[in-house]
Amino acid sequence: MKHVIVIGGGVAGLGAAYKVRRAAEEGHELSFTLIEKDSRLGGKIASEHVPDEWGGAEDDKFIVDGGPDCFLTEKPGVHRIAKLTGIFEDELPTDDSRKRTWILSRGRLHEMPDGVMMFAPTKFVPFATTGLFSWPGKLRMGMDLLIPRKERWPEGDTAAQHDETLESFVVRRMGRECLDRLAEPLVGGVHASDPAQMSLAATFPRLLDMEQKYGSMIGGFVDARKKVAEMRKKYPPKPGQKPRTFFTSFTEGMQVLPDTMARAAGIDNIRTGVKVTRIERSPEGWTVHLSDETRIEGDAVILATECWAAEPLMREIDPAIADALAAIPSSSSATVSLGFRAEEIGIDMEAFGVLCPLVEGRSLMAATYSSTKWPGRAPEGKVLMRGFVGGPHNQAIMENSDEQLVQIVLAEMRDILGVKGDPLFSRVYRWDGGMPQYTLGHLDRVKMIEERASDIEGLALAGGSYTGVGLPNCIESGERAVSKVLGEWGIALAEDSVEEKRLY
Ligand SMILES: Cc1cc2nc3c(=O)[nH]c(=O)nc-3n(C[C@H](O)[C@H](O)[C@H](O)COP(=O)(O)OP(=O)(O)OC[C@H]3O[C@@H](n4cnc5c(N)ncnc54)[C@H](O)[C@@H]3O)c2cc1C
Repeated sequence: MKHVIVIGGGVAGLGAAYKVRRAAEEGHELSFTLIEKDSRLGGKIASEHVPDEWGGAEDDKFIVDGGPDCFLTEKPGVHRIAKLTGIFEDELPTDDSRKRTWILSRGRLHEMPDGVMMFAPTKFVPFATTGLFSWPGKLRMGMDLLIPRKERWPEGDTAAQHDETLESFVVRRMGRECLDRLAEPLVGGVHASDPAQMSLAATFPRLLDMEQKYGSMIGGFVDARKKVAEMRKKYPPKPGQKPRTFFTSFTEGMQVLPDTMARAAGIDNIRTGVKVTRIERSPEGWTVHLSDETRIEGDAVILATECWAAEPLMREIDPAIADALAAIPSSSSATVSLGFRAEEIGIDMEAFGVLCPLVEGRSLMAATYSSTKWPGRAPEGKVLMRGFVGGPHNQAIMENSDEQLVQIVLAEMRDILGVKGDPLFSRVYRWDGGMPQYTLGHLDRVKMIEERASDIEGLALAGGSYTGVGLPNCIESGERAVSKVLGEWGIALAEDSVEEKRLY
């Protein structure tokens, strides 16, 4: 019997544990122990049900997601796990009949023009008539159609060999106004990253590829829009099937995902509230030391923590890997959720959210109209809003107390959106060092980490710090870590040979 020790109970660690369990069910002699330092599982995923004590019925509740509130529908990782564990029917599409995004520009709210894909306009009239950009800014964006590629890559080259920052790319192709007013809040915001540092090859390599293929972003995205429309026509939703929206959540909140994964993997093999303090390697295998002075022996270790938590644990095993981990920066952020009475909030709730570009100098980076975007997040007659603060340009805000963060977010919502009334309740979730920053050189650092780790038998690293921050990517990184160590023991799983299919 081979024993795998998984460190970290976020979706990457749980993805690893559940894969070991599936391998054991296939008949392989395998077991695992998962160690999570917090008292709860899920890592960055944290949902809370707040009972409606303000005149609601007995079962009425708000569902607050303090970390991720969704995953990208087109990526298969979460759907596959949801199907395997029986929660696929609990997936929740957005209510696109109410879809509208506001962008704050020069102190005024502008609706995101129809047809904008990432930061490229694909429909002329909405773009021409929007007040979001100045006329010189629009003309500069249109010049994307004429500006030649920066270079033609030699045959066979990849984006990784021609990396540049989001800022340099967008300014070069579409101009600074496009970066400041659209790309920074929209594209940089996904990673809570500084566009001047953010590696495009590590985050959105497709954009670099698109420039090669089409010579223009607008041309590339117009084509992409046509293809999406064709696919929708070719594969319309089957009768009774939920609509396919860009983002998906779960009806009872995102916490359903890690909780279900933990149960499917085997809760008896999971220990929470105890921290791994040291990893030791010996000719017999691995010893993992815990904060309660106990230790666990195993044949493999999967390190699925944040990179900064993995770094001290790796120092004794491989200092070069530890150095590379230390070179991955992380930024802190917080979400502040506020519940209101619908009749008191005083704003039109028919929108998904608002983006506040950095150039506006606001404390609020973005806000989501959670109960509009996700049906069922607030009881009848109540609404739920969520503000997002922090990010690399405003780390100082994290020094405020929870109560101060609530006041800051509320004041911003009042000023920007015109929110009235007093919140019925608030919830603050802090994510210290919660967002790894994929800066220039990230892919080289990850390649080096993977190459060195591939020479260390029984060790693999996984999680959002390396090859994608999105939940589907994190799950898959945990699964790949298992394939690595099982492969060393000559175990190939049936599912490893099946190319991952899109479930939609
Ligand atoms: C505010 C916010 C919003 C986000 N929104 C989205 C979104 O909408 N959609 C999306 O796809 N992604 C989103 N992300 C990104 C996504 O949530 C993360 O990338 C993902 O959850 C990371 O999963 P993970 O398992 O790699 O790491 P984590 O969830 O960070 O888990 C790592 C775990 O390791 C544990 N640990 C650390 N050190 C030790 C130790 N020494 N011993 C034992 N345990 C240890 C930690 O306590 C933690 O539980 C968001 C992130 C944040 C912060």
